[in-house]
Amino acid sequence: MKTPFTGGCMCGAIRYECSAEPIFMGNCHCRDCQRATGTAFAAAILVPRDAVSITGDVKYYDVTGGSGQIISRGFCSNCGSRLFGKPEVADFLGIMAGSLDDPSWFSPTFDFHVASAQPWDYMNPDLPKFAKSPSPP
Ligand SMILES: [Zn+2]
Ligand SMILES: [Zn+2]
Repeated sequence: MKTPFTGGCMCGAIRYECSAEPIFMGNCHCRDCQRATGTAFAAAILVPRDAVSITGDVKYYDVTGGSGQIISRGFCSNCGSRLFGKPEVADFLGIMAGSLDDPSWFSPTFDFHVASAQPWDYMNPDLPKFAKSPSPP
């Protein structure tokens, strides 16, 4: 991958550009991500929040995550595409890998919250697994 990288929602109302390299890339299998994505897990990239510029009107929905902290989940209110996750406590932004203009460079290095993974959620056996949150990178 090279910076800046770009992405957006399905209808094009929301676009983003990130000037920083990902802090990490991983697959979250928690129940929140299952509900929010409507499928088995969230393939996500964590970046410094101030490295991302966003155009368009992102709608955020706040949920209390498994850790007890609030996470704001951002999506396009027109087409429903999931784009971002903003933890309350840290200046990071999670970006959903499928929203990238070129998702092919996404390369997860671990699976986390696998304690909540569904039996039909097949994971790459070569990746490290964390029952809950990973240790800080
Ligand atoms: Zn949209
Ligand atoms: Zn999750």
